[in-house]
Amino acid sequence: MIECDIKNEKERLDALYRMELEDTPAEEAFDRITRLAKSVLEAPIVLVSLIDSNRQWFKSNQGLDADETPRDVAFCDYTIRNPEPMVVENALLDERFADNPLVVGKPGIRFYAGVPLRTRDGQNIGTLCAIDLKPREISEKQLNVLEDLARLVVDEMELRLIATTDSLTGTLSRRAFREAAARDLARAKRKGFALSCAVLDIDHFKSVNDTVGHAGGDLVLQEVVAVCRRNLRKSDYIGRIGGEEFAIILQDTDENAALHVAERMRLGIQELAVEYSGKAVPVTASFGVVGLTPAISSLEELLQEADTAMYVAKADGRNRVVGSDEFEQAVNAA
Ligand code: GH3
Ligand code: MG
Ligand code: MG
Repeated sequence: MIECDIKNEKERLDALYRMELEDTPAEEAFDRITRLAKSVLEAPIVLVSLIDSNRQWFKSNQGLDADETPRDVAFCDYTIRNPEPMVVENALLDERFADNPLVVGKPGIRFYAGVPLRTRDGQNIGTLCAIDLKPREISEKQLNVLEDLARLVVDEMELRLIATTDSLTGTLSRRAFREAAARDLARAKRKGFALSCAVLDIDHFKSVNDTVGHAGGDLVLQEVVAVCRRNLRKSDYIGRIGGEEFAIILQDTDENAALHVAERMRLGIQELAVEYSGKAVPVTASFGVVGLTPAISSLEELLQEADTAMYVAKADGRNRVVGSDEFEQAVNAA
């Protein structure tokens, strides 16, 4: 951790980590806000920057060619020290920033306007900021918009923490899924019941968005979930654990049976024939499936193994179902 003179730095970092955003990919909910800010402020770069102990990383990034920067060069690290927005009209004329590597080198920041992302408990976990490569001013009206949008960013983050369902797909939120799955895993272990976990990730979803736009991509997510539901039992449940990544708990189901269910879901997704604005959208997904074994002692391990299998499915060419290591070896040996 770098020297930091923020007096409540530990509480501030706790507030950041509570959001459970670390290393999650870009998401439309935040990109929508940064796109809007970019357009209203007519700025080439807009970021949702989160200030970790020794880096700032970008949850949403319009226009900057980097995922993160060291904290000690971050303009945003100044912004979070005060409740008000920070505006720098010309960084070359500001002694705090005149020799900053992001100013004298790439990308060549001149103008900066940042609003702290202040949580309900009063911690500034990051900023919504706009950057320009030429000196400029910001109108009061524009700054007010940036402040309102910063509030929307924090609202989105905080609402997610209390939401149990994902608003787009109606599946469980990541947190709710984890709670339910941890509970059911413990119960299955205690009682010796079978339980399996499937993780699925939509293939080449970036190109789905590129072809039919985000709204089209959203429709695909809903259709994929509908297919999964049709193939699951009442006691099974789906959680949205990433943008286009879902995890499913199949109760009283061993790995062999879960692999069959996953195969039906895979076929159903492949046959979806989604159409959006007159365009056919081919959709496939890759699955990793693992059954609970005595060697697996936590939800973390179960999800990790399912994830590993899913990545094997990706590496093997996508649009396929892969089971656990042991299962695949047994099948190959037979
Ligand atoms: P791969 O086959 O390797 O999984 O490729 P991919 O393109 O699916 O992988 P990647 O994880 O790089 O891209 C996922 C994309 O999903 C990026 C992101 O913009 C998009 N995405 C995430 N959440 C949403 C959402 O809620 N709606 C839409 N439309 N797109 C989303
Ligand atoms: Mg993914
Ligand atoms: Mg994907």
